[in-house]
Amino acid sequence: MHPAHFTAENPSTAPVEPDSVVGGRPSSPTRSTDNAPRTYDVIIAGCGPTGAMLAAELRLHDVRVLVVEKETEPPSAVRIVGLHIRSLELMAMRGLLERILPHGRRRPASAYFAAIPKPAPTGLDPRYAYLLGIPQPVIERLLEVHAVELGAQVRRGRAVAAVEQDGDWVTVELADGERLRSRFLVGCDGGRSTVRKLLGVGFPGEPARTESLMGEMAVGVPPEEIAVRVAEIRETHQRFWLRPAGVGVYSVLVPAAGVSDRAEPPTLDDFKRQLRAVAGTDFGVHSPRWLSRFGDAMRLADSYRVGRVLLAGDAAHIHPPIGGQGLNLGVQDAVNLGWKLAAQVRGWAPEALLDTYQAERRPVAEDVLDNTRAQAQLLSTEPGAQAVRRLLIELMDFDEVNLHLLQKITAIGIRYDFGDGPDLLGRRLPDIDVKHGHLYGLLHRGRGLLLDRTERLTVGGWSDRVDHLADSTAALDAPGVLLRPDGHVAWIGDDQRDLDHHLTRWFGRPVH
Ligand SMILES: Cc1cc2nc3c(=O)[nH]c(=O)nc-3n(C[C@H](O)[C@H](O)[C@H](O)COP(=O)(O)OP(=O)(O)OC[C@H]3O[C@@H](n4cnc5c(N)ncnc54)[C@H](O)[C@@H]3O)c2cc1C
Repeated sequence: MHPAHFTAENPSTAPVEPDSVVGGRPSSPTRSTDNAPRTYDVIIAGCGPTGAMLAAELRLHDVRVLVVEKETEPPSAVRIVGLHIRSLELMAMRGLLERILPHGRRRPASAYFAAIPKPAPTGLDPRYAYLLGIPQPVIERLLEVHAVELGAQVRRGRAVAAVEQDGDWVTVELADGERLRSRFLVGCDGGRSTVRKLLGVGFPGEPARTESLMGEMAVGVPPEEIAVRVAEIRETHQRFWLRPAGVGVYSVLVPAAGVSDRAEPPTLDDFKRQLRAVAGTDFGVHSPRWLSRFGDAMRLADSYRVGRVLLAGDAAHIHPPIGGQGLNLGVQDAVNLGWKLAAQVRGWAPEALLDTYQAERRPVAEDVLDNTRAQAQLLSTEPGAQAVRRLLIELMDFDEVNLHLLQKITAIGIRYDFGDGPDLLGRRLPDIDVKHGHLYGLLHRGRGLLLDRTERLTVGGWSDRVDHLADSTAALDAPGVLLRPDGHVAWIGDDQRDLDHHLTRWFGRPVH
């Protein structure tokens, strides 16, 4: 385990040249001699949404980050994904939501569970109660720009090929033979993760039994004709739809010819062939917006951490995109891990803080895999599954059931186990009103926050890590709460000694 101090050798304290990037110390590497490998605090493999978000979170704490990305260019034409409520809230917490919104399309937060046509439950905060459809390359690009603005370095066309670690360092060898060193390595390199394989971490679960093609394209047949044919086919085919997705554009889902090991997107001809096989016509599809392929494999990494190497996002968990949860889960992994890894690198992490990453996030992924399995069953055309679906449709008329399922899919129902305490302990705090604005506006810097309605508490020797808002008007049903940088409630109360104990638990020893 990394000792909680800085040494001359530790790059965290090594002087660096000023740079033009915004946001604290830039991520320049250090090199003690010409032949020595460049060293960083953290290397991230993969600049997908998880890797980019993690890089930005680490930069908020001045951690020197290098992201190595296998592809030379950012992806151009891949799928539209949906950002759910918790991810939208996280974006607001980091001041990113306003930047992202103009690039997406808001859809109502209805029909979110197994496409059951129910409206969203009542009582949600309208500022976040929608699904934001956004092209994945766009959200990836926005997150990468954010990370770079904060000082992260991204090197494209560089793939991690080998990893070694000892007690203090990880040595990363890239495919071109260059060697780099860092305190930690995080594999955010997707479902076929090289880092996970190099670590020998098991990835048990269910292999893909089926594969589907999904995309958006124009059609050459009148809408009425499509509607009739689609209704007939859906009687017997679970994995099929052809439905409007904007002016002149249809969303298409059709079974693939078989299960392949190909990572590349399918072609329009693949879609035409499969549409003809299933529907007897290809509906004259043309001018695709994006085309994608996915299988129904479900897998969860046995471990999220081996020594100084961690896994996040699809590298740690895969499942089919029913309910659109994968990217959301990865971004949320990144926000959970970022401040903990930063604390470790900066030297103030309490014992075992980093281990709470797996303890908290692996059960969340387990739950997502499980609800995805349940949704897959509910989408089946088998009579038994259809009967269960009808029953659930009835149950969802109860607002509590409807809310419970929405909380699952959108990740706003997560409660981490922080021990005994009021129901709010371990949950995320909504974006409540505080004096001069909203809570999330106070969390842009990724620090802890004491929200203090008593106006007599203090963060004392933790003020370098934790902010303090004394506000007797805050719309909060508790005298005081301590928020972690990921917005989860780590303490509730009004007793300073108890607060100090919890500050130590989450933020390490105070500075005197
Ligand atoms: C059809 C479809 C629809 C989907 N819809 C949704 C949705 O609506 N909502 C949602 O939340 N999710 C959705 N998903 C899932 C989502 O796309 C993934 O969960 C998400 O991309 C995972 O992000 P990631 O950063 O963890 O991994 P990835 O996006 O896979 O990124 C990994 C990155 O690592 C790079 N890399 C790989 N190997 C190396 C290496 N050795 N060295 C360096 N770099 C490497 C890759 O090039 C890539 O850029 C959908 C998926 C599919 C297939």
